[in-house]
Amino acid sequence: MNLTCHHCGFTADHLEFTYLCRNGCPACGESDLRQCPHCGTQCVFSRAESLENEEIEMRALAHKLSEISKTDDPTILREAKDIISRLYTMNRRWNIKELNQFLLKRQKELFF
Ligand SMILES: [Zn+2]
Repeated sequence: MNLTCHHCGFTADHLEFTYLCRNGCPACGESDLRQCPHCGTQCVFSRAESLENEEIEMRALAHKLSEISKTDDPTILREAKDIISRLYTMNRRWNIKELNQFLLKRQKELFF
């Protein structure tokens, strides 16, 4: 998920923007306060904006995962493992039951 600095226009993955406020911080409510790695400006990103981007990314990752078929290729298996763990991490915030079931199913199909 990419974020763009409101001040200098620098765009980077959200992980590069230092998180200044924790989830549920009373000061910023439904927003994420983050620091631009380029100019240092503190930017407020709306939670909705972040979640919308994350939802798109989750859909793309889930789709990619659904297209991986059982293989012995260690490169592909490593990629599948990576996608699964990223989706698990993201889903901690979303709690989509179907997604967890899908991940478990794919894990069984690919790794057992
Ligand atoms: Zn900036």
